[in-house]
Amino acid sequence: MKRPKNAAERKQRLEEILRRLDHMYPDATCALHHTSPWELLVATILSAQCTDKRVNEVTPGLFAKYPTPEDFAAVRPEVLAQDIKSTGFFNNKAKSIVGAANRVVGEFGGKVPRTMEEMLTIPGAARKTANVVLGTAYGIASGVVVDTHVSRIAHRLDLTRNTDPVKIEQDLVKILPADRWIRFSHQVILHGRALCTARSPQCGPCELNPLCYAPDKRV
Ligand code: SF4
Repeated sequence: MKRPKNAAERKQRLEEILRRLDHMYPDATCALHHTSPWELLVATILSAQCTDKRVNEVTPGLFAKYPTPEDFAAVRPEVLAQDIKSTGFFNNKAKSIVGAANRVVGEFGGKVPRTMEEMLTIPGAARKTANVVLGTAYGIASGVVVDTHVSRIAHRLDLTRNTDPVKIEQDLVKILPADRWIRFSHQVILHGRALCTARSPQCGPCELNPLCYAPDKRV
């Protein structure tokens, strides 16, 4: 496909990308199992450098052992680290989770807050985590989740030229309608896992193929 020449063509191409994402991933949602915003916050912290599948194996036992933020606030990080060992980087994650629990209990009455500003005061919650929790648990479109998949695919689709996740997010929220921010993140993360993988994208069956002019596209 030729690059769009002007703003009107770029807009038309983006609308077609969104239509095709809807067709490919109509039911896209967060893959981390959770029953509350707090559980999603913990699962998201655990998912750094770890697969969602592994996190989903760990969290049922974890939430049975520590059912509330108060329980997490009361545990010592070195004890919690042993419970989450299999997710990797467990010492740092344990410190973040206990810190987050203390903040949620001490400052927010035991409830995960609903604004980006407040979320960013929670240990272990940068914009990516905050967007996941606000978007998925509360349905609040605070921005676009930019993880490794979203970053890679936004580049391949020429929706950004930036490499810093915060700048990529700024580029995406500028061009995407706000009511697509949450869905777009889920769909693109699924696409990154299913077809548009880092090393060998499966461009043949990809419905975005006619709209994609990525340099590393496989024809
Ligand atoms: S055509 Fe290939 S590189 Fe482009 S979005 Fe699809 S899978 Fe990714």
